[in-house]
Amino acid sequence: MTERDDHPALKGWQSREGELLVGNVPITSLARRVGRTPFFAYDRARLKTRIAELRAELPERLTLHYAIKANPMAALVCFLAERVDGFDVASAGELTKALDAGMAPSKIGFAGPGKTDQELTQALAAGVLVEVESGGELARLSGLAADIGATPRIALRINPDFQLKGSGMRMGGGAQQFGIDAEDAPQIIADGRARGLEIQGFHIFAGSQNLNAETIAEVQTKTLDLALRLADLLASPMRYLNLGGGFGIPYFPKDRPLDLARVGESLATVVDTLAEAQPQARPVLELGRYIVGEAGLYVTRVIDRKVSRGEVFLVTDGGLHHHLAASGNFGQVIRRNFPLVIANRMGAAPQERASVVGCLCTPLDLLADKASLPRAEVGDLVAIFQSGAYGLTASPTAFLGHPDPAEVLV
Ligand SMILES: *Cc1c(COP(=O)(O)O)cnc(C)c1O
Repeated sequence: MTERDDHPALKGWQSREGELLVGNVPITSLARRVGRTPFFAYDRARLKTRIAELRAELPERLTLHYAIKANPMAALVCFLAERVDGFDVASAGELTKALDAGMAPSKIGFAGPGKTDQELTQALAAGVLVEVESGGELARLSGLAADIGATPRIALRINPDFQLKGSGMRMGGGAQQFGIDAEDAPQIIADGRARGLEIQGFHIFAGSQNLNAETIAEVQTKTLDLALRLADLLASPMRYLNLGGGFGIPYFPKDRPLDLARVGESLATVVDTLAEAQPQARPVLELGRYIVGEAGLYVTRVIDRKVSRGEVFLVTDGGLHHHLAASGNFGQVIRRNFPLVIANRMGAAPQERASVVGCLCTPLDLLADKASLPRAEVGDLVAIFQSGAYGLTASPTAFLGHPDPAEVLV
């Protein structure tokens, strides 16, 4: 059915009579129900399972936040609002989604390196925690708060003096647009005190898409050390510590799923140490991809089957305009195929190598390069796994003027 039936991404997906099931609905019925292809489908049961796994393995005192950036679909955000302890947002648009979903402002953190005055004012008016990323932003926030008579809720986002090795995307360590360099933090904390601002704590996010539990554990321990050092400089006891996240999911056959139990063990120590040193500090883990990535599929229909100089091309109605990551153009260094199947021919043996391409007039629009697949015909449905995070939201939908895909929560 795919290149490898034992691909870690296929674990937990079921099929019946050759049809991939999403929320127990056969894919052909689901496509009819949606009314058109392409579409993204997100599986509620898988979201629930993933959150249950996190709750089971992580220390109870740890607060679990969802980073809306990974997938901002409104119905999914509402679904998660009931199941996680808070949201992280990185724009005023995401802030609106978080509030619309009913998340309490006290449980929302707003990070991002380029918050405009307008966005900061919206955050102040809403009463969410602003994760300040520079001295300049602190000064602007302070001024805007005075203008509207608001008391800002502030944490400092720190660019650590260490890195999360082996991350798909590094977002901390070295020179960065994100956060305040750890060595500059004492000065900014002093500046905050001089302005009469209360800084509640820190946010340290080192990177994304990491599958190595040991590395994650090491970074979380270093994050705690750094935060405790800085906490001594605060005017009042630390009340908030966002430890980041960066938990990865397996995209490729050799990827091994993250050892969540191992991460949980190390986090238990981190949380205990924090509770002893700073009993009022609420530890937060912020996850995007790990919560939603494996719950989502991108489904596109084969509209042409052609052979060019001996190579088979399945031309679909989808493409990189909906799913840039699957084309290998969203920060990947080496292009590798996302796991995919012919979703109405599950269980059929692979018969040929076929490249799955999108409908855009660019060679970049390659969804699978010479994948081993059963013979697919016009009308068949291709499903790409691991598409719940950084799929539609991270794609250039306007490129070439095709319609947007549908999105459903099943
Ligand atoms: C992108 C981002 C996240 C989510 O990262 P994932 O890898 O999807 O878990 C969390 N926090 C911050 C600050 C981010 O920028």
